[in-house]
Amino acid sequence: MTRIAVPIFVRDSAEVAAALGKAQRAAADGARLIEWRVDGLPNESAEGIQPAIDLIKESPLPCILTRRTVDEGGECTENDIQRGVFFSAIAHCGFLPKFFDFELASFQKHESSWRSVLNIDEHEVSLILSCHDFDGRPADLIQRVEAMTNEPACDVIKLVWMARSLRDNLEAFDLLSERRKPMIALCMGRFGLMSRVLAPKFGGLVTYACLEAGEASAPGQPTVEELQDLYRFDRIGAATKVYGVIGWPVEHSLGPRIHNAGFEAVEHDGVYLPLPIPPEYEHFKATVGSFVDHERLNFRGASVTIPHKENLLRFVKERGGTVDPLAERIGAANTLVVEDDGTLACMNTDAPAAIDALCKGMEIQRAELDGRRVAVLGAGGVARAVVAALCDAGASVTIFNRTKDRAETLAAQQKAATVGRAGIDVGDVDALSQGSAGRFQIYINCTSLGMAGGPGADQSPLPDNAPLDEDTTVFDTVYTPGRTPLIRHAEARGARTIFGLEMFLAQAAMQFEHWTGKAGPMDVFRGVVMEHR
Ligand code: NAP
Repeated sequence: MTRIAVPIFVRDSAEVAAALGKAQRAAADGARLIEWRVDGLPNESAEGIQPAIDLIKESPLPCILTRRTVDEGGECTENDIQRGVFFSAIAHCGFLPKFFDFELASFQKHESSWRSVLNIDEHEVSLILSCHDFDGRPADLIQRVEAMTNEPACDVIKLVWMARSLRDNLEAFDLLSERRKPMIALCMGRFGLMSRVLAPKFGGLVTYACLEAGEASAPGQPTVEELQDLYRFDRIGAATKVYGVIGWPVEHSLGPRIHNAGFEAVEHDGVYLPLPIPPEYEHFKATVGSFVDHERLNFRGASVTIPHKENLLRFVKERGGTVDPLAERIGAANTLVVEDDGTLACMNTDAPAAIDALCKGMEIQRAELDGRRVAVLGAGGVARAVVAALCDAGASVTIFNRTKDRAETLAAQQKAATVGRAGIDVGDVDALSQGSAGRFQIYINCTSLGMAGGPGADQSPLPDNAPLDEDTTVFDTVYTPGRTPLIRHAEARGARTIFGLEMFLAQAAMQFEHWTGKAGPMDVFRGVVMEHR
């Protein structure tokens, strides 16, 4: 079983009581080990060492004692002789930690002295031999693993390095899978989170987590709460299927909150992670390809967002997979499904989700969209999906966009694919802003105007004198905040309003169903979004 260890730094005897309090909290949150980081504790006298002894003695959980050197990312500036005095005092004080964590490089330099200092031959404490590289994967990683595997004094091998891409995690998983003694193999940084969360899948002995965001002892370390509540750490095992959200950036995505809560609700053995991949197609192809091909990973699908929606379509085609016709027509997909036999399929759930949200909000059937006059505001990625879905449903669409060329290109593309169906046109944004663009039954905002944090957060894409009344429907695809300036404007005019959140939840539910075969639990999704956005 993989244990969650919480590193707690103690630099002074005055910090001992608070540190023990933190350790109690860690135990209550689900940690199974405390790593006492005594790198900075003074060492000039027996009193200097006493706080370390007190920590071991009073620790509410089994503990690791670590006095990490500066060159391996710690705070200890002592030489090996001075550190030897410290460890010798601990090893002979009568209160022992479960583990000493000691750097492989130091151990190899003075092996026989460390054997007697750490009292290794008595085997009263297990020895973690560790190496850390904050610059990247060490060139001699495999030699280090061999050295630690062959060293009789080493009870646990610990390897930690800065991941350069998501693919580094796969090497950590392979090392764990092929280990010949207990091992900890973790990647640091924004790309390394999956090695920390998936440690139980590959039999890692320990994963490290902090109590509060900002207290991490290494880059990319999650909190205990994230491991337990968000990623359902205790549920992860060898058979767990892996999913994620691919984008650049993706750290802000609500996808992990939503889908992991959904997996819990329907008891699906899966975990969903943020998967940052830089924008270029080569990165996407290499990373997603290596995930699909890595059998033990059980990679079963992904949500795909900006800037990779076109890349997904291209990748699935190159791999001979199935592209759903609507995604083909839109030229972008947002959902990857990897079947058990490794075959791929991609689809676009934004388009059907927009129609789903629109029809539910208007209390009509999809067929009743036929012939309705719809103004689509914007011509970006979401507008492409919305326009394709509307044309498919036979609506009469007029696209208004700040950059008219983009609207014309979108209209031409969809016109070509909409033979014999209702019309598609390009409107004049100036006429729209002057309130003279005519009347529409439905307005759908697909611009980013009104989005919190964006440049036009307080703006509405419709002018004050737009012809809105109780016979008009206004659908804002922007979902942060819930009540955008456009929605407030429409409500004030008595129009029917539909929130972007409904589309967001619907597209997530459709993805969920593609992966699990079960309906996405909308009430669970909604609760999660309300709590975390
Ligand atoms: P995008 O591809 O970047 O397109 C942005 C669109 O907004 C373009 O048409 C752009 O016009 C227009 N725009 C940007 N700033 C503007 C301004 N100051 N004035 C007028 N028009 C402006 O983005 P996207 O992926 O389509 O996303 C658009 C919005 O959809 C996002 O902001 C997000 O809130 C929302 N969204 C909702 C969901 C959901 O499930 N509900 C999903 C994804 C996105 P130009 O062509 O002239 O640049």
